[in-house]
Amino acid sequence: MLSKCINKVIILLVFLLITGCQKVIEGNLIIKNVNIINVENGNIIEGQDIIIIHNTIAEIIPHNLSTNYSAKTMIDGTNKYVIPGIFDGHTHVNNYKNDLAKFIHYGVTSIFVTGGSTCTNQYYAEMRAMGTQDSLPSPRIFHTSQHFIKQGSHPVKTYANSSWKEGETVFYLKDTLQIERLVKKVSQYPIEGIKLTIEDGPDPPFVERLSQSFISKVQKEAEKHDTRVFVHVSDNEELKMALDAGIYNFVHFTGVDLDFEKDTLLLKKIYGNPINWITTLMLDKSFMYPLYPEWIDKIRKEGVFNIESIEKVNDSTYIKRAHINNALMKDYLKLDTITIKDVVKFQVDDIKRLQKNDVNMVLGTDTGNAFIFPGYSLHEEMQLFELGGMAPKDILKMGTINAAIMLGRDDTLGSIDIGKYADLILLDKNPIENIKNTRSIQMVIKNGKIQKRMKEK
Ligand SMILES: [Zn+2]
Repeated sequence: MLSKCINKVIILLVFLLITGCQKVIEGNLIIKNVNIINVENGNIIEGQDIIIIHNTIAEIIPHNLSTNYSAKTMIDGTNKYVIPGIFDGHTHVNNYKNDLAKFIHYGVTSIFVTGGSTCTNQYYAEMRAMGTQDSLPSPRIFHTSQHFIKQGSHPVKTYANSSWKEGETVFYLKDTLQIERLVKKVSQYPIEGIKLTIEDGPDPPFVERLSQSFISKVQKEAEKHDTRVFVHVSDNEELKMALDAGIYNFVHFTGVDLDFEKDTLLLKKIYGNPINWITTLMLDKSFMYPLYPEWIDKIRKEGVFNIESIEKVNDSTYIKRAHINNALMKDYLKLDTITIKDVVKFQVDDIKRLQKNDVNMVLGTDTGNAFIFPGYSLHEEMQLFELGGMAPKDILKMGTINAAIMLGRDDTLGSIDIGKYADLILLDKNPIENIKNTRSIQMVIKNGKIQKRMKEK
């Protein structure tokens, strides 16, 4: 009798010990039994439970441990894949009230806005307010200053419209004293850095590029205020000018063509410095769009984009531009006919080599230009890399963790790790097998909250 009693007491003690140790986790959202893509190495961690508390990834636990937890929303992730929200590193948002929801629809949970004719301080402030809330669909917003350019040059010359106003959406560089004042002024804004354009513009009338002394002065003044400079370069010469000034953030790859045997001095400067380089292969594709009706048909079928942006395909200006660009590319590549693969392949080859040498390459589309569509075109950008021969895992890395590193936000964004913001995309198919699978979106989560998409499946 006594021994029975002792046994009961022991069982009770063991029970109390077990239940006392077992942590009951209360999340507001749990994705159960999902395959997590580690974007830093392309590995898949199978069968995990992701517990989200408020806006943060609180725990990641193997599903088969059947931990004691509860949540208001449980999502079954069986046979599905989860990647971090993707990041467009080069955008222009001409109408944020229309465009921001489109980014979210396509899983783009962060964007970097690099100036534009709409970007007054007020416009930036309104966009930032959209980016910090999570009830209305909007990606997180990061942005540069307004454009610093030489008067009469790109982009004001190239994209002429009445919204370019000196002191509001663009600053014309005039002399060194003025540069000092300007850099000091914009450094007080909540910017990621200064947007500086060296190029005079691709079209006549040709003016001189921004001078080396002005480029160097902007960088020197920026350093005093701990502000970075993001530079628009359009060829190897401008790249060299930026590097000579000590600028290490480039917003385009387009126009640069590196010869890895001959450009040794240039490469030495690139490899020896902490470079961030945004890709924008979509620019090349956008120039070709009017010649490929099947591309625009796909856009129509999305049912997301407005008719004016689609109908530009019938505009004679863009058709003419497409033919001129086609002829230039044929000449440049010494080919009788060219395809989009020819146009991107040599650039992807260069980018792969740069990536191997630890250059931080970041995906960007230059959305806001004709035939570059908010959100949708980031998936096109990724597919262009696959077409050019890059492995999906390397492409995903450029669109997630590399972008977060560029903006110094890798402590909170860019990968699926405990303590980071819960910005996630749930996919039906494995993106490591085929990058097109980033389009198999089942759900977009930003800041721990399921986002309303434009067209629910
Ligand atoms: Zn741009």
